Amino acid sequence: MANEVQQFDVVIIGGGPGGYAAALYGAAAGLNVALIERDKVGGTCLHRGCVPAKEFLETAHVRRTIEHASAFGIGTGEVSVDFSVSQARKNDVVDKLHKGLSGLLKGRKVTIFEGTARLDADQVVRIVDGADAGVEAKGTNVILAAGSVPRTLPGFDVDGTIVLTSDEFLDLDTLPSSAAVIGGGAIGCEFASMLSDMGASVTILEGLPTILAGCDSEVVSVVQRSFKKRGIDVRAGVNVTGHTPKKGSTAVHVEGGEDVVVDVVVLAVGRRPRSEGLLGDGTGVEVNERGFIVANSSMRTANPNVYAIGDIVANTPQLAHVGFAEAIVAIKTILGEPVVPVDYDRVPWAIYSNPEVAFVGLTEAAAKERGYDVVVKKDPFGGNSRAQIIGETEGVVKIIAEKRADGTAGQILGVHMAGPWVTEQLGAGYYAVNWEATAEEAAALIQPHPSLSETFGETLLALSGRGLHVG
Ligand code: FAD
Repeated sequence: MANEVQQFDVVIIGGGPGGYAAALYGAAAGLNVALIERDKVGGTCLHRGCVPAKEFLETAHVRRTIEHASAFGIGTGEVSVDFSVSQARKNDVVDKLHKGLSGLLKGRKVTIFEGTARLDADQVVRIVDGADAGVEAKGTNVILAAGSVPRTLPGFDVDGTIVLTSDEFLDLDTLPSSAAVIGGGAIGCEFASMLSDMGASVTILEGLPTILAGCDSEVVSVVQRSFKKRGIDVRAGVNVTGHTPKKGSTAVHVEGGEDVVVDVVVLAVGRRPRSEGLLGDGTGVEVNERGFIVANSSMRTANPNVYAIGDIVANTPQLAHVGFAEAIVAIKTILGEPVVPVDYDRVPWAIYSNPEVAFVGLTEAAAKERGYDVVVKKDPFGGNSRAQIIGETEGVVKIIAEKRADGTAGQILGVHMAGPWVTEQLGAGYYAVNWEATAEEAAALIQPHPSLSETFGETLLALSGRGLHVG
């Protein structure tokens, strides 16, 4: 006998940040929502991404703090590391958040199905395996939020011992004493920074001419200088061709260069969409040549009753908070409410390496490429009293504004930060860029003293024509 098709206002495939945000927001608006997840709600971000990675970076931060404790007159003895404790703590943090999220979804009466789902014609979603295999759910609207998985590289078979992606790396109980991190983007730099701060010897191998491509060049310089000082070997503009394992280590082959011999290779070469098997026949959804789903600014796919959000969407940043924002856009569109599309040029970016990086809006180079005449000001953290107090003075705040006809700074186009706790300071810059504030308007607002955020305030004052410390 055929299964009865269950009817919902919205059926969501994938319970990561995009999918669970859509479920919570839709249910809060009174929609009858089903969420289908093949693994655990929370997705990559909670189980294999943002949260575990930041927990390990915090472990590295604690170790750094202890190592510098003597500067404050505090004796600690030799620092020892039992990484399995950090791994257990990470799992505990993840479990608590997972329980909290599951409880929230239940509280909002979201129907959760377990298994792998496929969208067929007429918005019918079939669960093809897992605990709820055989269930069929029809949504007046369907949201595709199946996310992404790590990319791999030819010549590097992932075995979980010598060659790891972020998935395996975040499950390690002991840390390697040496590693080659292939890919110097946000994830690669976070892993390299963490490993180095935990005592490993690290080489970053990056194919592009620089690490952190897409970040403002000044910010990249801060990170590069710090990495160099700490002994991280950054090799940019190189092509890796494969590796040859030897007893307990492996030699990574670099085209035209010397091998890099390390304990493990960590692949951080981007993420591909998890779209295989997601779409049956006749869905009307367009998929691009790389497997990403094409959606418009309302997050609608080529089928007006099917939406896509999160990492699976073509040509959008793969960030958890972008998935949250897209979820809200999709649900509001479904509700027929007015909606402000996500402005992808002005989303906040945060990289939790040591030093941290945070930015929003155009880099100086991108602003010039777009034809803007710009005024640029920067202020290093060295002169900031709080930075001196905490003993972390590396870094800079750089702000780019449009130059007015009279040469003064007008609308703020970009805010770029590298240094202590900048990921927690970006909020003010985010508002300034997205509220399209001018330099004077933002500079008139007060920053508390002594605080790291005074460097942002001081840069704004300088941009508006008269800085207290910066010319
Ligand atoms: P995902 O989180 O990938 O979730 C998709 C879910 O769908 C998964 O749970 C999957 O099991 C499920 N699924 C897939 N296919 C099906 C199917 N057919 N049926 C049922 N279920 C299915 N972003 C940040 O903003 N900040 C950070 O600091 C940050 N750090 C990161 C660090 C690392 C190491 C990594 C790997 C990523 C990081 N990210 C970070 C990126 C962030 O994790 C992703 O952007 C985010 O998780 C994407 O959310 P999503 O909902 O689109 O997809």
